[in-house]
Amino acid sequence: MSELLLCAKHLTKRFGGLAAVNDVSVDLHRGRIHAVIGPNGAGKSTLTNLLSGDLPPTSGQIDLNGQSITGRSPERIARQGLGRSYQKTNIFLPFTVWENVRLAAQSRERHAAFNPLHWFSAAGKLSAVNQRCERALELAGLTARANTVAAAISHGEQRQLEIAMTLATEPTVLLLDEPLAGMGAAEAESMVALLQRLKAEHAIMLVEHDMDAVFALAEVLTVMVNGQVIASGTPVEIRNDSGVQAAYLGE
Ligand code: ADP
Ligand code: MG
Repeated sequence: MSELLLCAKHLTKRFGGLAAVNDVSVDLHRGRIHAVIGPNGAGKSTLTNLLSGDLPPTSGQIDLNGQSITGRSPERIARQGLGRSYQKTNIFLPFTVWENVRLAAQSRERHAAFNPLHWFSAAGKLSAVNQRCERALELAGLTARANTVAAAISHGEQRQLEIAMTLATEPTVLLLDEPLAGMGAAEAESMVALLQRLKAEHAIMLVEHDMDAVFALAEVLTVMVNGQVIASGTPVEIRNDSGVQAAYLGE
């Protein structure tokens, strides 16, 4: 049995009269990529925002690593092990790749300052943070770019950097909203390879329009249309689902 890291039940988010997410349940397991697909406006980004705490759900529950996180702040949820990327990047372009990752890693350290024990081990902590950053860069395939300013790396590498920045906070669950958006074939290929590397240690929810990537990577797919789940299953089940073909894949 693989480890269940995030469990969301009956999530609904209403914006006025619109149910952007309507009674959606999602389980994320370590070692699996769970893809969420659907046409524009289906509610995929809203679902991501509910899981990360960026939006409070109208109803429903979310457990992360066995603890309820429903209604908690994004900062608190991040400290409990959830990392996410955004459709728009958070990168500081004038800073180097290393500096960007280092800043992201540090964002998790803020609260340690209140623990007097940490004052006596500042040097040890510093090297632990640096090690975390080195590992994040290595996983993201950016070690050779560490000292390059972020503005000078390619679009594909910037997307990899964004993932490295997320990894530097040591999440167990990763929510990735369209990591392949705007990529050429070669860039998409290295992102797919990166996601394969991340799979072993993480539970991943992948919102993505690139169906080749989705079917190459995902163990489980959820198809959303108009806020609702119209099908959920293995890639083979989803490919053969006539409702999915009519509503989405065939369009
Ligand atoms: P997707 O990511 O699948 O394209 P979204 O989650 O962005 O879809 O949007 C789902 C629906 O919710 C859309 O109809 C969108 O216009 C609406 N929506 C998203 N965010 C808001 C918001 N903050 N306020 C009002 N409506 C929103
Ligand atoms: Mg979206």
